[in-house]
Amino acid sequence: MDDLKPDTDPTDGHHREHAHVAASSMASPDKPIFDPEDWKLSPFEANLCAETRQLAQSKFANRAPGIDRDARFPTENYVDLHNQDLMGICIPKSLGGRGADLKAYMLAAAEIGRYCGATALTFNMHVSSCLWTGFLADTLEMDSATRAEHEHKRQTHYKRILKNGAIYAQPFSEGGDAAAGKVAFSTTARVTNGGWIINGKKIFASLSGHANYYGVLCTELDGPDAKPSRANTMYIAIDSTAKGVSVEGEWDPLGMRGTVSRTLIFKDVFVSSEEQLMPRGVYFNAAKRWPHMFMTLTPSYMGIAQAAYDFTIRYLRGEQPGTPPVKRRMYATKQLAVAQMKIMLEQTKSIWFQAISEARPNPSKDALLRAWAAQYSVMENSNEIAQLAVRTCGGQAMLRSLQLERLYRDSRCGALMLPWTAELCTDMLGKGILYEAGESDDG
Ligand SMILES: Cc1cc2nc3c(=O)[nH]c(=O)nc-3n(C[C@H](O)[C@H](O)[C@H](O)COP(=O)(O)OP(=O)(O)OC[C@H]3O[C@@H](n4cnc5c(N)ncnc54)[C@H](O)[C@@H]3O)c2cc1C
Repeated sequence: MDDLKPDTDPTDGHHREHAHVAASSMASPDKPIFDPEDWKLSPFEANLCAETRQLAQSKFANRAPGIDRDARFPTENYVDLHNQDLMGICIPKSLGGRGADLKAYMLAAAEIGRYCGATALTFNMHVSSCLWTGFLADTLEMDSATRAEHEHKRQTHYKRILKNGAIYAQPFSEGGDAAAGKVAFSTTARVTNGGWIINGKKIFASLSGHANYYGVLCTELDGPDAKPSRANTMYIAIDSTAKGVSVEGEWDPLGMRGTVSRTLIFKDVFVSSEEQLMPRGVYFNAAKRWPHMFMTLTPSYMGIAQAAYDFTIRYLRGEQPGTPPVKRRMYATKQLAVAQMKIMLEQTKSIWFQAISEARPNPSKDALLRAWAAQYSVMENSNEIAQLAVRTCGGQAMLRSLQLERLYRDSRCGALMLPWTAELCTDMLGKGILYEAGESDDG
């Protein structure tokens, strides 16, 4: 595996492709979503995107229909991700990973979303555990004892990922207000000798039954009279094989079927204090100071938007594999539709690119408003572009033998992802625009 350094010599040129890509025997590789020269990507970003695109186009795309049809976890894609050293994409370089920051990861993940939305979305849950503990944690202030504790504990997790291809999930939804960030998580971590006893339930837990560890957000309770508080949110890895862990319920949803987001139950699960993903108090602080982290759910849908657009162009030009070579591009209505789709795609790419480029701790109010607008735009526009694609291509294009109907179903799920659902984004935007911090209309 070649070493992909963020600080690659800039004289390498933006178009230098990773060795894997150069050696590819793929007939017609797709163009990047973000052309490295046009969007001024660093060589590191461009190479990483080329690598994920090549892998996803050559391997994941063919598997995606079966994964969707059977609503099964894309296990073989994770074997490929591990073999290609991508499981540690966001593990710091100094600790053996690829060292991608938030932006580089988001760009590379969007390329995966183009070919298999469910793989990109589940990969995001895994990668988040490394982003929170790696890139993000490294930008936060910690006293030296806390930093040393974090440094020691995160290496345990990183070794599992890098050596064994361990998969981490990110279950935080509980069906109440906690996942929206309004109240404390009702999953509890009661302090005991050497660790915690975990009790609770997580709904829509993607990768359930397939992850090796569940990176659970829960509320620490120290002592019999302790009251739940969001400030005591803990981020703890629970071994999927631990006593008291079970997976419940059916999984037969509209879209993103390969995520296998079933219900997780924790019943008196003992977890050692070594399994902390972040030291006490750090997650709560990080979530407040790094709001852009919640945008990590968007790359899958950015990729889907691009895929629906690409499909439409190929189809209207009579070049879509699996369909007769009939051209439909000469009709004015088709031209108008693809123009509309292109406008929406470019608007979406632009606001998303700006938001991920300016992501930082304690963003300005304007940058935060833009992040919500970007999240909303990606999640809603990917579905809008997919539905325009179905209408424009017509009946033959929505058969299950082609990927458009899957893109259409998958794209509908983006706006539902807490904590930044499309509704909550508009809610926060409206209030944020009209009120400054501390303002109210009372009295
Ligand atoms: C494919 C898929 C994969 C997922 N994977 C994961 C995962 O890996 N981990 C995970 O933790 N979750 C995951 N989720 C869950 C997701 O983030 C939401 O928690 C889930 O969709 C909420 O469903 P619900 O019907 O319980 O929402 P509800 O809580 O009933 O909310 C319904 C809607 O009401 C609005 N709403 C909710 N709370 C408030 C509020 N306080 N104020 C105003 N409006 C509000 C929101 O717009 C929300 O969409 C996944 C969801 C999907 C669809």
